[in-house]
Amino acid sequence: MKIDQVSDSVYVAAGTNVNWALVTSDSGVTLIDAGYFGDTADVLKSVHEIGHSLDDVAAVLITHAHLDHIGAIPTLIEKVGMPVYTGEAEVPHARREYLEQITPKDMLRQLTTSAGRRWVAQTMVAVRGRMDIKIPSVISADGVDLPGGLTPIATPGHTTGHTAYFLADEGVLFSGDALVTGHPLSPCCGLQILPDVFNHDEARTRDSARLLENHAARTIVPGHGPSIQVNPESA
Ligand SMILES: [Zn+2]
Repeated sequence: MKIDQVSDSVYVAAGTNVNWALVTSDSGVTLIDAGYFGDTADVLKSVHEIGHSLDDVAAVLITHAHLDHIGAIPTLIEKVGMPVYTGEAEVPHARREYLEQITPKDMLRQLTTSAGRRWVAQTMVAVRGRMDIKIPSVISADGVDLPGGLTPIATPGHTTGHTAYFLADEGVLFSGDALVTGHPLSPCCGLQILPDVFNHDEARTRDSARLLENHAARTIVPGHGPSIQVNPESA
């Protein structure tokens, strides 16, 4: 795990091909996403590494309920009992009333390239048989005064209820998987959307990426790939 501080209050941790963020405020620590199940120990460790204890975790905000973004949440609920929020439209997905995720068949198709084989192997280790994670206690982030001063932004496409978050005070946009800067299955770097095999609705994914690209952010913290500075003139 690697942790970078990207603004006064924001730290970004890179786990197994996926990021989660920690936003510090008077409320304590607000996590945005929570890695794979296999990243659980690192998610807990990341809270300590930025100088906090688990009791300081005020909430977890989920961008979307894919397994690489919710893995440590059951353990955090057990140890801390903090609330878990996501956009209204993602709530039923996080409760697993339905599932919009890459199929086992589509995963097998990745085995034709060496990058794909490596990614599948790392993913299988990271989920460690825990593909059944769901968050029954999740609540809607819409219209809520969220800890950390974060605002949800509906960004449907990657999943129907995908939600980005914005920290206006520091100009930091948490774009989740609506706009990323890299992925083991992507050819290269820079702002991009994920390969279409990951996106539930490709057209809406593109619309949401465009919306975020034009957002008045200074820093974009994506679900995959390094954080980047944008719009330096607005700093
Ligand atoms: Zn993801």
